[in-house]
Amino acid sequence: MFKYPRKIPLFYKILLPSAITKMQVEEKKIFLSFDDGPHPEITPWILKELDKYQAKATFFCTGKNLSEYSNIARLIILKGHQLGNHTFAHENAWQTSRELFIRSIEKTQSLINDINSSAKYIFRPPYGKLSPILALKLSKKGYKIYLWTLMLGDFNAKIKSNVVLNKTIKKIKSGDIIVLHDNEKSFENLKKILPELLEILSRKGYRFEKF
Ligand SMILES: [Zn+2]
Repeated sequence: MFKYPRKIPLFYKILLPSAITKMQVEEKKIFLSFDDGPHPEITPWILKELDKYQAKATFFCTGKNLSEYSNIARLIILKGHQLGNHTFAHENAWQTSRELFIRSIEKTQSLINDINSSAKYIFRPPYGKLSPILALKLSKKGYKIYLWTLMLGDFNAKIKSNVVLNKTIKKIKSGDIIVLHDNEKSFENLKKILPELLEILSRKGYRFEKF
């Protein structure tokens, strides 16, 4: 079992050198991202927590959830956050043909564009899995690939959220990209981690920004 928070494996950085794993910033800024939504209850809860700190974040959504919960996706934009592309049905790039994988991304992007006509083309592959050829094809189509710096393991029922939180606070640095999830299996941990993370890091002078 992995220990969390977990840094992005070096392997991913070597395989996908063009993917972003940290932001270059001069001020104290953290980049929160939430994968797998939108979810009709969890995402609005996250939005309320973020609002308390004027925090902005990026939501990497699946096309399937975007089409089902487009009202929540609109709320994400209305609140000043950003939508990112996380494929249509959370496909694994290593188990899907390249054509189908790209079609899944493009279908999702058109849903994002319908909700926000000035949306950026930002993509996070499910499980962080992508091939160098796909990365190249996507960059030719104008997509930027965002991985992460620290994964907090909120989806893992076995983590001790207070331990993960304390270690995260110690490790975190300006420009770090944090991954959390707006899906059901993560919500118990997220409820404990997110409010504390926002409170403690805000007190330390960090601000939270979207990509
Ligand atoms: Zn995901």
